[in-house]
Amino acid sequence: MLFTSSFSENEINAYIAKTASYIKTQRDLFAENAAPFSPGQFEVFKPFFSEAILKTTLFFQKQDGPLENPDFLKEINEKGIHFSLERTKATTFIDVVVFSGELDAKIQFHELVHAVQYQKMGHKQFANKYMRGLLRTGEYTKIPLEVNAYNLQEAFMANPDQPFSVEAEVQKLINENKF
Ligand SMILES: [Zn+2]
Repeated sequence: MLFTSSFSENEINAYIAKTASYIKTQRDLFAENAAPFSPGQFEVFKPFFSEAILKTTLFFQKQDGPLENPDFLKEINEKGIHFSLERTKATTFIDVVVFSGELDAKIQFHELVHAVQYQKMGHKQFANKYMRGLLRTGEYTKIPLEVNAYNLQEAFMANPDQPFSVEAEVQKLINENKF
């Protein structure tokens, strides 16, 4: 609870609004030149995701370096909460995964979990839960939406031949109000 007190509800709502609008802008910016999975990649993830998610999620390899942090993120960093898009290997904006460098199956799986979260919650609610999680815990790795993606990614890596439904897992946490 250390960090909640540093932000008023008004400030938190302003950051959530900025996050939601940033997500939508980035999505629209990169969607045009992004591509879907190849048939081979599709097969790898089919036991875990619906066809709808696998067909509609697009990938864009950014050639000119990682994403730059938007101003509101720099501001949050200055207030002592360290979150940097420049350090992440990939970022999912609704149905578009933007990455620089190489994407392995582990990261692809992780980002697909985020795509499912977006699909179920919509990008405004995703922004709400993500930003509140960040400001509440003060750490990227403790944001419940990230914990969920890391847990499912690890389950996949441990047993890639054992199918489970990511959508059911995400829905369960939504129903239990865990995000
Ligand atoms: Zn993530």
